[in-house]
Amino acid sequence: MRMAIAPHGLHHVTAIASDPQGNVDFYTRALGLRLVKQTVNFDAPDTYHLYYGDEVGNPSTILTFFPWRGVAAGRQGSGLTTATAFSVPPESIGWWQRHLTGLGLDVDGPRTRDGEEVLTVSDPDGLVIDIVAAPGDARSGWDGVAAIPAEHAVRGLHSVTMSERLPERTAALLSGLLGMQLDGEDGDRARFAMAGGGAGAVVDVAADARPRGLQAGGTVHHIAFRAPDKPTQALWRRELVEAGLHVTEIVDRQYFTSIYFHEPGGVLLEIATDAPGFAIDEPLLELGRSLKLPPWLEPSREQIAAALGPLRVDERAS
Ligand code: ZN
Repeated sequence: MRMAIAPHGLHHVTAIASDPQGNVDFYTRALGLRLVKQTVNFDAPDTYHLYYGDEVGNPSTILTFFPWRGVAAGRQGSGLTTATAFSVPPESIGWWQRHLTGLGLDVDGPRTRDGEEVLTVSDPDGLVIDIVAAPGDARSGWDGVAAIPAEHAVRGLHSVTMSERLPERTAALLSGLLGMQLDGEDGDRARFAMAGGGAGAVVDVAADARPRGLQAGGTVHHIAFRAPDKPTQALWRRELVEAGLHVTEIVDRQYFTSIYFHEPGGVLLEIATDAPGFAIDEPLLELGRSLKLPPWLEPSREQIAAALGPLRVDERAS
C-alpha cells in the first residue's frame, strides 16, 4: 500500500551544547521552557540528553540537547539548520525584549520577517534562537516559571531555518516526497507548511552562499517531523526507501520511535512518532527532576551517573 508522507508539524529540534548546567539554566530561566526529561544519549550513554518543552513535552514544543563537555564551537554555514524559532503571542514581543535584555543577553530586533516580528538571541553556546510573534497559536506553553507570566510564555516551536547553497534541491524534497506546501517567499527565503502550517508546522529554507557549516557546539544536530503513529511511520519509511533515500531502521528512543535520513543539502532529518511521550517513565508532576534511563541501561546506572556529573534543576524555575 502506498501512503503519501504528510508530517503534521515539527516534532523536535536537537542541538549540541557544551556545559549541561549552563544549558539547563538558560532554557528554563531565560526561555521558560520546562526540563521534561533528563536522560542520556542512547548512542553515547556517558553524556546527557536533555529535553525541554511545554508542561507535557508535547510534540512541536520540544527542543533537545546533547551536552558534550569541552566540545569545540561549531560554525554557521550552509547545509545546517541555522535558526530555531519559538512562538510567543504577538502582544508579548516587547515583554520578551525587556526580559532577555534584563538578563544581560544581546537581543537583535524586533525586525519583521515573513510578516511577523522576530527577536533573535544566542544561547550560552551560540545557538541561534528566534522568538517569533505568532498570532493564533492555541498551544498553552508552560507556566511553571515564576519570572515569566503565563500570558507571555513560549507556546512551542515556531519554525526552523535550513540554510542551503542549492535551496531548490531541498525545496523539491520538502514539497515533493515530504508532502509540504510552499507557503510564501520572502527574499532569499521560502516557507514550507505542514498540515496547513502555522506556528509549529513551518520550515523555512534560506539560500546561503557560505561554505558548509561545521556541526559542533552551538549548532543544530537534526530536526524531527511528526508521524501520528508507528504504522504510519513504517509506511512513510518504505516510501522514502523506495524513492532512493538512505533511511535508518526504526529506532526506539523510549519516548518516541524514529527514522533518520539526510536531505540533499546535508541536514539530518528525523520522523518521530507522537507517542508514547515523556510520562512513560515518571509522573507528569516530576518530569525532568531526576535521571531516567531506558531499561537496557539501568544495570549501568551507577557508572553512568558518575560519568555525567550532577545537574542542578531549580524547582522554582522548572
Ligand atoms: Zn531527534
